[in-house]
Amino acid sequence: MEKLIMIKYGELTTKKENINLFINTLKQNIKFKLWDNNVLIKFDKGRMFIKVLDDDFDNIVNKLKEVFGIHELVIAYELKTLDLEEIKEKILNLLKDKDFKNFKVETKRSNKNIPKSSILISSEIGGFLLKNIANIKVDVKTPELIIHVELRNSESYIYFEVINGLGGYPVGTLGKGILMLSGGIDSPVAGYMAIKRGVKIEGLYFESPPHTSIEAKNKVIELAKILSKYNNDIKLHVINFTEIQESIYKNIPHEYLITIMRRMMYRISAIIASRSNAKIIVNGESIGQVASQTLTSMKAINEVISIPVIRPLACFDKLEIIDIAKKINSYETSILPYEDCCTIFVPDHPVINPDSKLCLEYEELIPYKELIYKAIKDHEVIKISNISSSKYDDIL
Ligand code: ATP
Ligand code: MG
Repeated sequence: MEKLIMIKYGELTTKKENINLFINTLKQNIKFKLWDNNVLIKFDKGRMFIKVLDDDFDNIVNKLKEVFGIHELVIAYELKTLDLEEIKEKILNLLKDKDFKNFKVETKRSNKNIPKSSILISSEIGGFLLKNIANIKVDVKTPELIIHVELRNSESYIYFEVINGLGGYPVGTLGKGILMLSGGIDSPVAGYMAIKRGVKIEGLYFESPPHTSIEAKNKVIELAKILSKYNNDIKLHVINFTEIQESIYKNIPHEYLITIMRRMMYRISAIIASRSNAKIIVNGESIGQVASQTLTSMKAINEVISIPVIRPLACFDKLEIIDIAKKINSYETSILPYEDCCTIFVPDHPVINPDSKLCLEYEELIPYKELIYKAIKDHEVIKISNISSSKYDDIL
């Protein structure tokens, strides 16, 4: 009897034609996550199995809890038989050290050649246990212990406890997106949610030195590291936005500063996306949160590009966003007090209903195409990876 980790895919199994892509990507992502653990992975269309060769199960389970595409995971005992008598004996053996007063047996039978129904198998196992263990009874409604039995091709699996995975799709199955990543609370959460839908993220940060500090940049790098746990690794593009921002500040009426600045950010994001072969831009905008996120503002800002902008937090309250930020451990980093480029150039009265025609007129006052070209030309790209580079080739 071998102890192993069994993974259930959940939502993935609804992907009929693409199931192989989804499962192969999940396997690849698990290999990335467990690159320094000694494990063997095998799988079929229904389940994935991880044999732990010499390692700590808890450590591996904790790592798997950060992998999207896993619906549930269990520590299971594999028997190389479908023989019911043998299964009963093994269960009895496994229950020796368990203290419980009531239980139920739940059987799943993916192998439909087995003549007995799942219900009949459960009740036969249950009857056997009642005979052999003193002072226990069956409770189908609120059992203290659920004994799960799964009968597959030629193996059976026994397990007692189900651990929830993160769900979602394996990262990479839906292509790539550029995440506008600031040091705030919202954008890391938006990134996490996009990764959950299978989008592999590259971060994009606008810095304005010397108006923004190295601490502000390090904070964004730290947030990118947090996201990299779910994204296999992450690339962070850093754009020097100082010249563009100063030029806007000097030449454009201040109530339009933020609107024009964000139009410039959008233009740059779209160019970086097209160069990186990303299909979408993702950001942390939330309807009504600030002047630049009224519907009229969002329209005036979005107008300058045609690539889709996905806003996972569009309809979330700040408190809901904070809850997720705490769950993914980005909150403590996000609230560190370093200014980012938007906060420094915030006018007293930003326009809440910007006029698109006026935006175009104001933009004529600055050589923005040239400035954008310059900012993108030699921009910095930081690669953040949790895995040693010599292992990369083995995994890919
Ligand atoms: P907060 O949590 O304080 O709202 P924020 O980063 O969401 O922080 P907003 O002004 O609401 O700040 O910005 C909206 C979105 O625009 C951000 O979620 C982020 O996606 C993007 N953004 C803002 N500033 C930057 C920046 N300096 N670099 C990259 N993206 C940015
Ligand atoms: Mg915000």
